[in-house]
Order: sequence, then C-alpha cells, then structure tokens
Amino acid sequence: MPKPDTNPMYLVELMNAAPRCTATSKRTGERCKGPAVRGWTVCRLHGARGGAPEGDRHGNYRHGGRTQEAQAIRKLAMLMRRTLP
Ligand SMILES: [Zn+2]
Repeated sequence: MPKPDTNPMYLVELMNAAPRCTATSKRTGERCKGPAVRGWTVCRLHGARGGAPEGDRHGNYRHGGRTQEAQAIRKLAMLMRRTLP
C-alpha cells in the first residue's frame, strides 16, 4: 500500500474503498452503501455485531454438547464411521 505524503484526500479515498453494506431499503429499494463493519456484510446500523454471544456466554448454554464445535465433531465421527471399514 503506497503512502503518498502530499495528498490528504488519499485517506478519504481509502475509506470510500471500504466494503459496503448490503442491506436494502424498504422504501427506496436501494442499497444502504454505508461502510460495512469488518467481518460483516452490513453496517453498524443494519445489524452488524448483533445477536447473542456464542458458546458459554450464550444465555441458553447448558453443557456444551450442542455447540457448533461439538456438533461438527459428532458429524465428522459419523462420517468416519460410515466410510471406514
Ligand atoms: Zn447499512
């Protein structure tokens, strides 16, 4: 990434080049076009970082047997049982 020390608008161009929010307006049908939060496809106004926390920080967490990791392990074990002789 080149860093010119003459043009301050370079920083604005960088910001405008950021990934855009993919949410669409109910009224106009147009895209939001706001800057998307890093790691999300939507902006902070359209639900980025929303939802309940994962794992044992989730309100309904009980024993960990239903976490995405535990389910992936079970799925893999079932696949191996099916394919191995
Ligand atoms: Zn948005």
